[in-house]
Amino acid sequence: MLTLKKNEKYSVEITGMTHEGQGVGRINNFTVFVEGAITGEKVETLIIKLNKTYAVGKLLNIIESSPSRRKPFCEVYKRCGGCNLQHLHYEEQLKFKTNLVEENIKRIGKIQDVHIHPTIGMDNHLNYRNKAQYPVGSGDSGINVGFYATRSHNIIDHPVCHIQSEVSDKVKSIVKKFILDHKISIYDEKSEKGLLRHIMTRVGFKTGEVMVVLVINGSDLPHKDQLIYRLQSTLENVKSIILNINTQNSNVILGSKNKVIYGSETIIDTIGQFKFHISPLSFFQVNPLQTQVLYQKALDYAGLTGNEIVFDLYCGIGTITLFLSQKAKKVYGVEIVEDAVHDARKNAQLNHIENVEFMTGGAEKVIPEVYAKGIMADVVVVDPPRKGCDEVLLKTLIQMQPHRIVYVSCNPSTLARDLKYLEENDFKTSEIQPVDMFPHTAHVECVVGIHRKNCL
Ligand code: SAH
Repeated sequence: MLTLKKNEKYSVEITGMTHEGQGVGRINNFTVFVEGAITGEKVETLIIKLNKTYAVGKLLNIIESSPSRRKPFCEVYKRCGGCNLQHLHYEEQLKFKTNLVEENIKRIGKIQDVHIHPTIGMDNHLNYRNKAQYPVGSGDSGINVGFYATRSHNIIDHPVCHIQSEVSDKVKSIVKKFILDHKISIYDEKSEKGLLRHIMTRVGFKTGEVMVVLVINGSDLPHKDQLIYRLQSTLENVKSIILNINTQNSNVILGSKNKVIYGSETIIDTIGQFKFHISPLSFFQVNPLQTQVLYQKALDYAGLTGNEIVFDLYCGIGTITLFLSQKAKKVYGVEIVEDAVHDARKNAQLNHIENVEFMTGGAEKVIPEVYAKGIMADVVVVDPPRKGCDEVLLKTLIQMQPHRIVYVSCNPSTLARDLKYLEENDFKTSEIQPVDMFPHTAHVECVVGIHRKNCL
């Protein structure tokens, strides 16, 4: 019998944490999720949502605190939907991530005998992001520019974000002042009217180059010369200012069309010894310091000697491809976004790399075609989006029988699902290295070494 009531307070012991970082406990044998509570704590909670199988409670008081708890560093921690693990010491965040990976690999992947290394963290885990996307909306004080509140489209106006680069926050305040001074209209999701939707920044951490993208519901920005002047005269190294046209009423931030209003259409940054052109629509890892750690691991697990044909699938702008090219005979990169493939080809030229070739299309479509033509890989690297690899692709790889597969994943559950499938078909997972690309959030990236069973 369910005795739990909405809007009532309860005390609850937190016995675990979800993959998103919420505390989980049971009241009268009924599951309750409490954001901000930590395993081992006893807390007072107010039930704010009650479903048939679970309840959601708001954290009111910590009755018995965990030694893992620390004071969050951000003033808007409770309202912003961003860094929801800030109340954990950084070392504890890393342990949480390692456990999360282990739990998925065992429960979904049914793999018991694999070495999962402790998550590699950062020494300085603030200001690590090179890309910011600030939604813009009407607010009490004129306009709000900042972040969406947890699970909503309410925009929290906030001048500083501690995980963003400092220059991104400066861009945000310059653009905000420009909007107010020139009375630029703000897009309203409900009426679908108004011009400005988002401000996006990309910053090259090594080169210092800055890109500013204004996402607009229209074709032009009034007084744009004023904006260009203000950005350029206040900040060093603004290399690219772009209007991105998005007139669709959807949650997708960027439209497909860009208009360069100042400078070039890309900025350049380096990872390791390589330089990369980055354009507004292409994927580029958001934490450049940890990216180098991640790619180095991928290269180690690929175990290349210089004679191999390698596939780099879901290759983005060819970052991993170029890393692999140093030690391979030839690397084929496959990517679905045309702009990214364009950047990838430019990046190979920029770095004078000749043993790479890029193909545009879904990996699940391109690889079966390539395989049918008789091109086969000795080593395959996959780095899919959150939904993981398509089964058609995995089937083709199983037929192709590469010696090794390196799986780079941003989602432990789809990773575990795909590893299970590979393990059922002649492959063995050798080791898993989680890397913390997103400190203070519950996200974790993994690099996985996989080999064909008779082929270590
Ligand atoms: N390896 C790259 C990119 C990883 S992100 C890096 O480290 O930078 C995943 C990439 O997969 C994105 O660039 C996305 O555009 C691409 N992608 C998504 N679905 C795809 C598919 N079905 N086939 C090929 N690429 C795809």
